Amino acid sequence: MSDIPLLMPRFDPLQGPPCHDCTARCCRYFALEIDRPATPRDHDHIRWYLLHEHIAVWVQEGSWFLEIRTPCRHLLADNRCGIYDARPQICREHGWPDKNDEHPCEYFSSEGGFDLSFESAEEFDRWSIPELNRREERLARRRERSQRKRAVLASILAAVALAVRPAAADTATEVFKKMGIKVGDVMNSSVLTGRVLPGEEKQTVAVVTYLTGKKDEANALGVRLEAYRGEGTTLTSIYSRDVGKENGGYVGRGEIALVDLDGDGVNEIGLYYDNLKNSLISERKLDVIVREGDAFRIAWSGPVEYDATRAARDVPQERRDRYLRKLDLAATRKTRGVTLFFTKTVVAVAGERLQQPRQVQETFALKPQAP
Ligand code: SF4
Ligand code: SF4
Repeated sequence: MSDIPLLMPRFDPLQGPPCHDCTARCCRYFALEIDRPATPRDHDHIRWYLLHEHIAVWVQEGSWFLEIRTPCRHLLADNRCGIYDARPQICREHGWPDKNDEHPCEYFSSEGGFDLSFESAEEFDRWSIPELNRREERLARRRERSQRKRAVLASILAAVALAVRPAAADTATEVFKKMGIKVGDVMNSSVLTGRVLPGEEKQTVAVVTYLTGKKDEANALGVRLEAYRGEGTTLTSIYSRDVGKENGGYVGRGEIALVDLDGDGVNEIGLYYDNLKNSLISERKLDVIVREGDAFRIAWSGPVEYDATRAARDVPQERRDRYLRKLDLAATRKTRGVTLFFTKTVVAVAGERLQQPRQVQETFALKPQAP
């Protein structure tokens, strides 16, 4: 920005910009919105911009901008516009406050007013390096959580005596084909063979997380669940859900567990997936899908891992909790699947971390008690 002195409000911004009294600050640069840097590569790009002369990067109300400090070719020596009648629309509209009476032009604003502002690569490094370190820590915590979850899932599976096994490779390939998903687009999948219907025959149950080919943040990943009669090339769909579509696209990392919750010798389906709707809330959900005759219904759905402690802007304080839920299979089976039991470990309540995690037992109705 040029160094126009900050003036007392002799002019009212609501009356329009006083260009006749200004050194044409707005004609000496332009700024383009850029993506918020997320990865080390993004950070490196911003550093590269800032290694150039006449470049600044700033953040305003959460949006990132690249400022290129170069005057317009048509700015005259006396700060007037050389193509006034033919000036672009953006120049005509600039300077007038918007409908909320906010954002009058640079004439009225002091230097600064940014969430962040970087004039050089060195200045950016001072912010970027700790930020990248924090990102690494977050990723490490996420990896650790994911390993813990896998261990929980494995222990659940191990606890169930019913024969459930991963489907053969050709069955998995056939499942992707049936779903219309290219093998190269599959990010992760669980394809299991076990009994989810009464009788001797086994069924194939699959959840597939895949790249949809859409580029936007919401729809880049899809999660689909399918249950089939048969194995190999004889698959006939008996239950199907597009979990991505149901959740507005914000989903990831689907996994399934086939577990006999009611002890009748037939498995219920546990579907796990990440809800990615709010990037500040970490939520992994479980849908418990039970059989009614030959049909299936979602009998319970809720978070099994939830952390809203960072979502200060989006979630009221009283709901900024952090907890884990672990299925208590033995207790659930004792009720013959009528009541679902969880052990809930609460780590934080209303944004405050507890000194010691607290464990509570929770119960949810799965199906009506037999008369
Ligand atoms: S719009 Fe504002 S910053 Fe631009 S020349 Fe006019 S008074 Fe100056
Ligand atoms: S066209 Fe005129 S008003 Fe627009 S930036 Fe150039 S000098 Fe300023």
